[in-house]
Parts: sequence; C-alpha cells; structure tokens
Amino acid sequence: MTVARLGLTLLLLLTVGVTRQACASHPSSVVEVQHDLRIVLHPATRELQAEDTLTTAGNSIVDLVLPAQFEIDQFTLNGQPVAPSADTDSEGLTHWRLAGEGTGTQRIFLRYHGQLATLPDTDHRGTLQGLPPMADVRGSFLPGGTGWYPQIQGRTFSYRLTLELPAGQRGLVPGRLIAETDDAQGYRATFDFPFPADGIDLLAGPYEVQQRWLAQQGTDPIRLRTWFHPEIRDLAKDYLDALNHYIEFYSRWIGEYPFSEFSVVSSPLQTGFGMPAMAYLGIDVLRLPFIRTTSLGHEVLHNWWGNGVYTDYETGNWSEGLTTFMADYTYKEQESAQAGREMRLSWLRDLAALPPGQDTTLRAFVARTHGSSQIVGYDKAAFVFLMLRDRLGTEAFDRALRAFWREQRFRRAGWLDLRHAFEQSSGIQLATFFEQWLTRSGLPKLRIENAAVEGNRIRVTVAQTEPVYVLQVPLVLESETGRETHVVELSALRKEFVIDATSAPTAVALDPDLRLARRLDSKELPPILRQVMIDAGTALVVATSKSGFQDAAQQLADKLLDSSPRIVDIAQPVPRGPLLLIGAAAEVDAYLEQHGLPPRPLQLRNRGSAQVWAATQPDGNALLIISAANAQALQSLQRPLPHYGRQSWLVFDGAKAIDRGVWPGESLSWRLTR
Ligand SMILES: [Zn+2]
Repeated sequence: MTVARLGLTLLLLLTVGVTRQACASHPSSVVEVQHDLRIVLHPATRELQAEDTLTTAGNSIVDLVLPAQFEIDQFTLNGQPVAPSADTDSEGLTHWRLAGEGTGTQRIFLRYHGQLATLPDTDHRGTLQGLPPMADVRGSFLPGGTGWYPQIQGRTFSYRLTLELPAGQRGLVPGRLIAETDDAQGYRATFDFPFPADGIDLLAGPYEVQQRWLAQQGTDPIRLRTWFHPEIRDLAKDYLDALNHYIEFYSRWIGEYPFSEFSVVSSPLQTGFGMPAMAYLGIDVLRLPFIRTTSLGHEVLHNWWGNGVYTDYETGNWSEGLTTFMADYTYKEQESAQAGREMRLSWLRDLAALPPGQDTTLRAFVARTHGSSQIVGYDKAAFVFLMLRDRLGTEAFDRALRAFWREQRFRRAGWLDLRHAFEQSSGIQLATFFEQWLTRSGLPKLRIENAAVEGNRIRVTVAQTEPVYVLQVPLVLESETGRETHVVELSALRKEFVIDATSAPTAVALDPDLRLARRLDSKELPPILRQVMIDAGTALVVATSKSGFQDAAQQLADKLLDSSPRIVDIAQPVPRGPLLLIGAAAEVDAYLEQHGLPPRPLQLRNRGSAQVWAATQPDGNALLIISAANAQALQSLQRPLPHYGRQSWLVFDGAKAIDRGVWPGESLSWRLTR
C-alpha cells in the first residue's frame, strides 16, 4: 500500500544538503472520513497511546490499515467487536476489510498503543522520508505518511485531534487550535483540521511558544506562533516578524490567507519540511539567515499554491513553479533589477547544462526526484510565469491569480485551469503558449542572422532552431542617445523585422535582459566560480613563497574543489585546462601579467582582506583566482567560499562576503555600420 503523502514540501535548503520535494497526489475536495483522535505521547519512554473514532458515510466495504507494530486494545464497528486480522502486508501494515450496515453513518472505534522509534543521529541530514514515527524528549516527529493513526485506503479525511504530553513538553498538528492547557499536570491541546488532509504530522518537543496575532480585515485574526527550543528563543521575534510580513504580502497579492494559524517549529534534526500552515526546521537551519528571507516565504506561499489550491498531478505540478516565481524570484526582483537578471541567468545556465534525456517536460514534472527535475519543475516553470507576465502585463496577470484563487481554493486544479484564468483576465488566447512550454523538453535557441540600418530604420533577421516556437522577442536598439526596446513576434524559423527607431541605431541586441527561456550561447554565460570548483581537471598554482600561505592555500583548495587538483609549481608554464590560482595580491598580479592572463578587474582592486574572481583564459578554459592579504585572510575563506559557486566575483573581509556579483556576460548583438 502507499500512504498518500501530500502537500508536504521540503524547504529549499541547498546549503545544508536538504532537498526539496513535492507530493505525489492530492485528495479531492470532498471529505469522506472524519477522525476524532486522542493521542497520549510519553517522549521519555517513546510510548504512544491512542484512541480514534472514525465516522464514514455509506455501507461499502472499507480497507482500514494500521502498522502492525501497534497493539490493539479495543476495536469496534458500530459498537460490535471486530475480530483480529492476520492480514499483514509486506510493508508491515495490517488490513481489516470492514463492511458497514444500513446506509447511514458507520462508526469505527480503535484504541491501540505501541512504542515509537528513536531519533536518528541528530546530524541526520536530508529527507526524513521513509523514517518511522519517532519520539525523544529533544523532539518527537510522527510523519503523516507513516500511518501512525488508522487510515482508510482511498478515502479523503479531515480530523480533530487532542494531544496530551507530560509537563515541559508541548506539541501540535496542523489545524486550528481550539483548546489548550499547560500546567504542572502536563500539556493538552485540541486541533481541528476541517479540510481534506493529506496526512497528520505530529510534532512535539521542549518548546517555548511565542505567539502573535495578525489582524485581518473582515475575518478572524491569524495566530502566528514559534515553537522553538530554548537555545534559539532569541530568534522568535524575527520569525514572527517575517511571518507577519509574508502573510500580509501574499494576502494582498492573491487573496485571504486560507488557514487560522501559521507555526514555525524547531527540530533537533537537520531538516526542513513544509506542511499546511506549518514549517518544521532544524535548530541550526533556523539560524541560517536565508531561511527567514527566502525559504520561509516560499513555504508560507504554499498555503495558497499546493495546500490551498491542490495540484492536479495528472497533468503536471504547476505549484512549485508558481511558488518559485512569486517567492524566490520575486524577492530577487524586489532587491534589484540586477539581482532578478542574475537569477534568470542562473536558471538558464542550469537548463543549458541539463544532459540530454534528463530534460523532461513540465507536464511530466510531478515532484522532485533528482536535481534535473527540480531545474525543470521549479525554475523553468517559474520562467514560464515570468514570460506570461511580460506578455499579459502585471495587471492582467495578477487579476488572473486572484480569480484562480477565488475559484479553485481547496479544489484540485491543473495547468489548464490556470490557462483559462489567464485567458479570461487578458482576452488573449494562450493555447499555443502553454502547449509549447508544457509539452516540449529543451529550449529554443535564437540568433540574429543579419541586420542593416538605413537612417533610423533597421532591418533585422532573427532565426531560431527547430521545433519552431512562437516567441515575443525583445530587440534592444542602441543609439548615441540611448536604448530602446522593441518586442517582435517570431513564429517561424526565421523572419525579417523592419523597425523604425527614434534615432539612428548603432547596434541591435537580442534579449540582453534574458526575459526569454532560451538556450544561451556560450558567450552569454559569464564565468562563475563553480566551473573551476567542479572540474576534475583543475590545476592549482600557489603564487607566493611564504610557507604558511602555501598550507592555507592547499587547505582552501581541498575545501573548494570537488576533486584533488594537480599542483603545478609557479615557475612552470601555465598548465593546460581549468586553473585555480591562489596567492598574495602582488604575486597574483605579477603571475597574471607574466602569462598573458586577464588582469585583476578594476572594481576588485584594494578591497577587503581577500578578493575572488572567475575569468576565462585566452584558450577558453576557466580561471579562478583567490587573492588574499595574508595566510589568515585565506584561512577565513574555508567555510564561506564553497557556498558561492554561482558568483563571478566576491570581496571578503575576514570570513564575511562584503560584496559579490555575477559578470554581465556578453549579449547576442549585431554592430550596425552605415
Ligand atoms: Zn516548494
């Protein structure tokens, strides 16, 4: 059997090695079974005692399952005892096939108990999927997918759950908190989840709870909570502030927040999960600043896309792309136009690097199974929403999102429903747009084939590879007085466009701002640190004579590179292939000059205690340079630098990156001569 694990998303925690994922299917919007659960958990002994009353309509046979590890104390159907079952499947689940009587409501009652598993090592990283229900005084986690409560196969359910814990422990499940007492006798709280649920995730620990109410116009206020271990209590205020901000931001943008609360809960494990109205994050993970500024917003937004409107997985998962666009990408756009462009560039770089065969279509994307499906399902999908907004305009785009939310809330919706919402708000037919971006793998490749100017008039021929896409192509005309953008529609393999500019153009560039999902030309991809970091053929040259510096350079190279480098003496000729050059400023500059390599960029001169930059050697091979004031400055880079593979350059002050960026790259342009 497969217990449906739904609406559960792993946070974007790439730097702590935790993966994201989406779920495999989602229930329909009709609730068929109601659970009334009472759970008593003793984390110290890992003992679980449970009672569940299930009500379900109709008299058809139901298949009820419970893991065989639990001992049944009492089991009745409509008050009549149910015989023990010997039917335990290969996954350790015991099945009972129960037939109701009459046509009314059937009532099933179960009382059971058992001992839960211990926590894995607290440095456990990565997905918690596949882990059993676990208990510990440091933190208990009963994942919804593990069936620690009775489940009726193939039926959607909602629940009410009362949780009892010993004094000093507190805990929760997704849902509205409707009663809570907390005293020397222990902790007791009741939660109500009236929507179709995708599993019940139960969390408990030695939490300090902090709470704030977020007032909403016209509806009840939203309860915001942090459930943090005492050692991170100081983070609570910042997290509550961030929650407040995100919920207000998305409520204004899309429509009312659909739940009555949101909780951020700390975990003794190094992990990150998003659930309806909840995020469960490792203690050390919560300390990372980008969790609050990016990942938390992404998870909050999933309460609209994914846990609010359910994804119709049969036609592809749109919710990760839309969430990435409206969270991760939007935060970059808010930061600056340049930061937005850098994110588009990194998406296109990843898409261009996908090996053939791993480049699936958006329609085939269901959940993240490996890196390449994430690149398509999250990043390419986000790019599709960006192109759509460019095409329709922000107003029509946002209007469609609000209508989609109004109409599809707590329903299952697919790409087609989104398409209809965008068509309705804009009056533009989008069948071709969606068809080409959802059903094709790969990306179109474009080029300027010819261009000529006559006065203010320019004739430019734009060509694309097969299969032919219909594309709105931005052409940027440069003249002595400035730049102007003209968007032309390319719907054939090649087409000549005649454009009248306001002043005589001197050059024309094709999509220099990277607003089209297209296969970039190699010259459009500026060098970044990662090219040298991941190349097994990288050679290391240390440009200094000081021995302490030599050791520090060697240690840094070990931390930075995926495989050990060939070490080449500074007196030798420049080794062929990718090169990592580490040294003191003066020696680095001398080496670069002596060997005809690109010099230190002006903007990095005399800044901070260390400068790092990527460049291209004259023969096209990648070059990475680390220039430090002294051995200690070099040592300080060991921890931070490996995280910056996507950057082109950085300036460090000790271990702190005080400035960084990506080189702009060249654009596909054509110089015009008269
Ligand atoms: Zn997500």
